[in-house]
Amino acid sequence: MVALETLDGAVTSATFKNYAGDSRQVRARYFVMACGGIENSRLLLWCNQQANGQLIPQDATLGRYWMEHPHATVGKALMFEPAALGLEDEYNVFLSPDAQAIASRQILNCGLRLHRMNTEATQTLVDELAEQAPTLAGRLHTWQAQGRVMHGAVLRAAWEQEPRYDNHIELSDDVDSLGVPRSRLVWQQSDLDRHTIRESMLMLGEYLRENDLGRLQLADWLAETPVQLPSDGELAGRHHMGGTRMSLDAEQGIVNPDCRLFAQDNVYVAGSSVFASVGHANPTLTLVQLALRLCDHLDSRLTSA
Ligand SMILES: Cc1cc2nc3c(=O)[nH]c(=O)nc-3n(C[C@H](O)[C@H](O)[C@H](O)COP(=O)(O)OP(=O)(O)OC[C@H]3O[C@@H](n4cnc5c(N)ncnc54)[C@H](O)[C@@H]3O)c2cc1C
Repeated sequence: MVALETLDGAVTSATFKNYAGDSRQVRARYFVMACGGIENSRLLLWCNQQANGQLIPQDATLGRYWMEHPHATVGKALMFEPAALGLEDEYNVFLSPDAQAIASRQILNCGLRLHRMNTEATQTLVDELAEQAPTLAGRLHTWQAQGRVMHGAVLRAAWEQEPRYDNHIELSDDVDSLGVPRSRLVWQQSDLDRHTIRESMLMLGEYLRENDLGRLQLADWLAETPVQLPSDGELAGRHHMGGTRMSLDAEQGIVNPDCRLFAQDNVYVAGSSVFASVGHANPTLTLVQLALRLCDHLDSRLTSA
């Protein structure tokens, strides 16, 4: 799809082009843009440019408020009594702060996942913690001599990013083989994003220590000020969200609560690009629910027409 032709507040046709250079215009009563969390913004930016701004006249937020879920290995935990935490032999557990903790710590949401270590790695963690905390060392060694099985776990996290105007998709000078500008992504962590992951880890550490259920070892980069995400490993979740955000108001977003472009009566957007905020959870279930709701909406428009 390389262009959307608009007239009097409705799109009349979409132009499709193939790699051989052939193009076709498709007419339809309704159009749904469902090209993914970067392409939705890229194509609408391009189509709006081609339509001299008539597709999305209020385009201040087009491509803006783009979000991902930063991912990183954030530390290790030693659980003294795994059963007291509901942890059995095999698990893949997610922890996240509740609403009260989010409010009191002034953070966004965050999902921490525990991956159980093998016996050797757990022993290394015990030795490291014993060295760092001599008063704890005696107890750890006594428990081990008594045959207590403690669990070491690697902690991986995915956390919410705040919607920021500055994080955006824009058209680059480089074009693809169909002549459409490629996208350029501007994506940075904010102070609140960084505060969220550090506070979430500190909260878990406090919980383990205050209840004497274990100890946490923060990844080195989390102890730095300001916190900088490590440049290796998995940095994000391939969750592309925002760019065509939903809003009640055309000045604040690109689609209305029905996922329809404000200025066009018959063009809709499906996908996580309509998210106005993102929580920490994977996006696809939510975007599928929104797509199903959009189907119902279109169905009712078609039957009432
Ligand atoms: C490796 C990986 C792992 C993931 N794991 C998870 C997970 O565990 N949980 C989760 O919730 N999400 C996960 N995601 C994210 C998930 O894939 C997306 O949220 C989901 O696919 C988005 O669905 P969509 O239909 O909006 O977009 P897409 O699945 O991206 O589909 C868009 C479609 O539009 C087509 N298209 C694009 N441009 C054009 C154009 N110009 N003309 C015509 N067609 C076009 C594309 O070819 C594609 O078929 C993962 C993503 C990746 C890459």
